[in-house]
Amino acid sequence: MIKVCKFGGSSLADAEQVRKVCDIVLADPDRTVVVVSAPGKRSKSDTKVTDLLITCANQALAGQSCAAAVQAVVARYAEIQRDLALPAALVAEIAADLQRRTTGPTDHAGKFIDSLKAAGEDNSARLVAAALRARGADAVYIDPKEAGMLLTDEFGNAQLLPESYPLLQAHLKQVRGIAIFPGFFGYTRGGDVATFPRGGSDITGAILAAAIPADVYENFTDVDSVYPVDPRLVPEVKHGISAMTFREMRELAYAGFGVFHDEAVLPAIRAGIPVNIRNTNNPTLPGTMVVPKREYDACAVVGIASDDGFVQIYVDKYLMNREVGFGRRLMQILEDEGLSWEHMPTGIDNISVVIREAKFTAAVEQRVVQRIHAELSPDHVLVEREHAIIMVVGEGMQYTVGMAAKATQALAAAHVNIEMLNQGASEISMMFGVRSADRARAVRALYDAYFKTS
Ligand code: ASP
Repeated sequence: MIKVCKFGGSSLADAEQVRKVCDIVLADPDRTVVVVSAPGKRSKSDTKVTDLLITCANQALAGQSCAAAVQAVVARYAEIQRDLALPAALVAEIAADLQRRTTGPTDHAGKFIDSLKAAGEDNSARLVAAALRARGADAVYIDPKEAGMLLTDEFGNAQLLPESYPLLQAHLKQVRGIAIFPGFFGYTRGGDVATFPRGGSDITGAILAAAIPADVYENFTDVDSVYPVDPRLVPEVKHGISAMTFREMRELAYAGFGVFHDEAVLPAIRAGIPVNIRNTNNPTLPGTMVVPKREYDACAVVGIASDDGFVQIYVDKYLMNREVGFGRRLMQILEDEGLSWEHMPTGIDNISVVIREAKFTAAVEQRVVQRIHAELSPDHVLVEREHAIIMVVGEGMQYTVGMAAKATQALAAAHVNIEMLNQGASEISMMFGVRSADRARAVRALYDAYFKTS
């Protein structure tokens, strides 16, 4: 059995956390591949090492001194080294590494910034390998370049080149001992450092799990499990989700389930490898398993997710249903503005397009509405902002009678007007559009309807 485990920034924030990481790794001989983030925040007001490194890079690019920021980064590692009584030479090497990176070529800003950003994870991996060795384990730092982690040259937003998979597999196979792999970055074909988008260590872990292939991808973070509803909206929610399918995770993540990015773990999911979300601070708990398939009991709603910030463009035109190309022309207007749509409920004479509000500025709205009037001659166009989407998700839903009735009754009792309802497009979810002001009340009502037993 091979487990790839990934530890996020909060799991590596200080010596105490690194000690926990070592305990977890050493507790299970199957944990042979470990992916680490850069040290994260030690408290709410703290700064992540990656953010310090970005400050460094920007200062250097602006021709300013970045000495203070470099010092702050070195201090983060030095604190861990000291508290764990690791060799002092480690910190000297980290300082030298940062010196080399900050004095590197600045002619390409993206390359320069990525080279600095990657230092967080790279040095974190060296430190964790040393911490494990100090505990008597056979742990080796893995250089992503030697291992064959090849990425596109979209600096700061790189993607894996598929030829990496066999290279990574072959490299990891010959490693003796526990492989400590830095997350978040790889190398372009030209040999430059390139990073994934922020939070990208999750991606590294998923890629390695798929490359090996591992039996499970353990993603250690700072929550006990994924909750069926946002605890900020329903504070008394106690029981986490023990298992959900990839499809359920995707639907929940879409509507604001914040624990991790479904896209980030996609490589593992594509390879059919279960993802286990666990808590570094509570490692005996089983966490949440995200699996390809699961047994579901009838009427099981696995979770309720919700997200704000949607806008609805409502277009009404008598005999729209007979007009060939109406939808395409409407979509073209949105495409020309670079807007992607999220949902599109339709009637006989009307169509609503739901898009994210963030990109739909007042100026964009004016242009879009003008063009709809000019090119589609509608009877009415209405733009409504401040909408929220609520997803009720569960694999068993499609086979269960009365699922929708339960939701609509609960929403009616809570005096929530349903602006939009979509059941059927996805077999495993129901989607409700409500006004943002009603969102919290609606989620609470739905939670009570599906999860409250007494
Ligand atoms: N350290 C990087 C970030 O803060 C990547 C990660 O932690 O996954 O975005």
